[in-house]
Amino acid sequence: MPDWLTKQTDADTVHAVPLDDGIVHEFTPGCPCGPAPHAVPGGVVLAHASLDGREQQETT
Ligand SMILES: [Zn+2]
Repeated sequence: MPDWLTKQTDADTVHAVPLDDGIVHEFTPGCPCGPAPHAVPGGVVLAHASLDGREQQETT
């Protein structure tokens, strides 16, 4: 299973960041990977993109 780090950065924002990725992710919406916001109850999850595309395994 891919390893992900989740980190809450403010009252209604959680970042989901791939561990051991090839780049250093920033816990901001401006992270170089271009995190995709997903609305969830109570806030938003910013799903960061991994360089190895692990979140897209089903399409390859
Ligand atoms: Zn990122």
